[in-house]
Amino acid sequence: MDRISTKVLVVGGGPGGYVAAIRAGQLGLETTLVEADRLGGTCLVRGCIPSKALIHVADRFASMTEASHGGGLGIRLPGPPSLDLGEAIGWKDGIVDKLSGGVGALLRRAKVRVVQGTAVFSDAKNCTVETREGTVAISAENVILASGSVPVELPSLPYGGPVISSTEALALQEIPKRLVVVGAGYIGLELGTAFHKMGAEVTVVEARDRILPIYDEQLTQPVQRWLDKAGVRIHLNALALGVESRGNEQGLKVRTAEGEEILLPADRVLVTVGRRPRTEGWGLERMAVDMAGPFVKVDEQCRTSTRGVYAIGDLVGEPMLAHKASAQGEMVAELIAGKQRRFEHHIPSVCFTEPEIVSVGLMPAEAEKQGIPTKVGVFPFSANGRAMTLEAGDGGGFVRMVARADTHRLVGIQAVGAHVSEMSNQFVHMLEMGSVLEDVAGTVFFHPSLGEAVHEAALRTLGHALHI
Ligand code: FAD
Ligand code: NAD
Repeated sequence: MDRISTKVLVVGGGPGGYVAAIRAGQLGLETTLVEADRLGGTCLVRGCIPSKALIHVADRFASMTEASHGGGLGIRLPGPPSLDLGEAIGWKDGIVDKLSGGVGALLRRAKVRVVQGTAVFSDAKNCTVETREGTVAISAENVILASGSVPVELPSLPYGGPVISSTEALALQEIPKRLVVVGAGYIGLELGTAFHKMGAEVTVVEARDRILPIYDEQLTQPVQRWLDKAGVRIHLNALALGVESRGNEQGLKVRTAEGEEILLPADRVLVTVGRRPRTEGWGLERMAVDMAGPFVKVDEQCRTSTRGVYAIGDLVGEPMLAHKASAQGEMVAELIAGKQRRFEHHIPSVCFTEPEIVSVGLMPAEAEKQGIPTKVGVFPFSANGRAMTLEAGDGGGFVRMVARADTHRLVGIQAVGAHVSEMSNQFVHMLEMGSVLEDVAGTVFFHPSLGEAVHEAALRTLGHALHI
């Protein structure tokens, strides 16, 4: 058996683990990373990147379909376009291969040793890995757990056959004629919208009384409007009971809000009801770490209850986002190297629906709940010239500023509209810099740009918007 003794052992090569390992390597710490599958983790291999690639394909296809019907911009196509999903998935896989290979190269450059296989722990600092070349035993001074998460499975809808998770949805070779999506959260609406644009007949079943419950209703209203207009049917307050066949018809049996049992015809049922941390099957129970519900419990430095064992990313709780995992990974590597760090950042969230939603910091109701008196101002994209030139003026989108009523310090910024995902970094920067409304109002923004709506939202919150 090969034996490795290392200063830092990272478990998992997703955006949490690989960033932790690169930073630890850069800081001169002898580092070993164990990855069971492919470098890049959920985000790169079957999450963020593949889904955004598919959303791009869907957008291109939808705008060409529109042009074949006339459209309004003067662009005409002789007939409707066709889509070879297998080819599109091949293009997406090419991007994944390139990025996963790139992660490998970055780890090599940082002198990180990569061991391929599943790490199984016998105690907090010792594990074995069955590799293709044989068993490797690893003991470490410091352990960073970054094992990520897996899709939640509903007992009434076990994965298999027509019931798929996002992983299978991102590898389909054909567009399902009828797709039923269970769960109107991030994944359900991002992928449901993409499949609708690619020609599937999409129906969504959601247990709660509205879509995207993590955002407030003002933010989700333009998305709801788009879905209604596009003909995506949504059953709210509905319960998925299981897949059933009646004669030749296969579908999802659903109990509706009215208590009626109906069968929604479906070639595929995509279940997207959340993700749970990957805590089973690798000896976590032998590491004596405290748990916080299903997650590993950590403090603001991502330390677990066991000395020298850290945990980051999806394993430690919400928000389950790639950039949070990476930021925690970078911090933990620096802590092990002796630097002073703690995790107290604003984490931007973006939903790539139609239109897109961005939120950073507190939404108005959250600020109220914390007892913060606020001033809130909204500026609509319908009054922004650049939005009009991008056909993004009449989707009901807007930028919203949430500032403290007393000091005018921003505590939250949100936007909904086409292309607003790219504004998320500007928003988080403003919050991290401690900006007040007057800072934004006193900045000269480029014309014409969507960003002018941010300037105007600040002016409007101060009571003197110019273009409305
Ligand atoms: P993961 O990326 O899950 O990586 C964990 C890795 O650990 C895996 O590669 C796994 O094989 C490995 N592993 C686990 N156990 C062991 C073991 N015992 N030994 C060895 N290896 C092990 N987030 C965003 O911020 N933006 C998005 O747009 C976005 N889109 C998404 C779309 C989809 C469809 C999905 C499913 C997720 C999306 N996410 C998005 C969430 C994002 O993917 C996760 O938050 C992120 O990947 C978490 O990173 P992580 O490093 O904690 O874990
Ligand atoms: P989610 O938590 O975003 O949404 C799950 C939805 O399913 C909720 O609306 C919930 O009310 C509903 N639900 C739960 N149980 C149900 C049931 N039995 N029947 C019907 N509906 C039910 O979860 P997700 O969409 O699976 O995504 C998982 C995580 O992945 C997200 O929380 C997010 O952290 C991450 N993600 C992020 C992005 C992004 O950043 N753009 C994109 C995709 C995924």
